[in-house]
Amino acid sequence: MSLCQAIANIVRPYAAGKHVDVVRVKIGALRQAVPDSLSFCWTLLRDYEDMPDAELEFEVVNAEIDCRSCGHHSTIDSPWSLSCPDCESADVEVLRGNEFLVTSLDVS
Ligand SMILES: [Zn+2]
Repeated sequence: MSLCQAIANIVRPYAAGKHVDVVRVKIGALRQAVPDSLSFCWTLLRDYEDMPDAELEFEVVNAEIDCRSCGHHSTIDSPWSLSCPDCESADVEVLRGNEFLVTSLDVS
């Protein structure tokens, strides 16, 4: 629920007085946010926030890591195992995957 609230907090000042059609959100895989459950809580929240037709669209960003053990750069699509796919070391640097951005709005 908190991510939905955060989205609403970002959108609200831009939406002031306008009709919001689409809210586009970029979200990193490491956020462990399930788009289905986010969409569900958004449908509850948007009425309360007085933007009843605002659709939420997601762009999920895969996580990227640099392994400190073997030096490999890897893309990770599962948020549940943050380790190097090559050597299975957990000593990794996370380069991407924690994004949480409202990238654009369609208003009318
Ligand atoms: Zn490695």
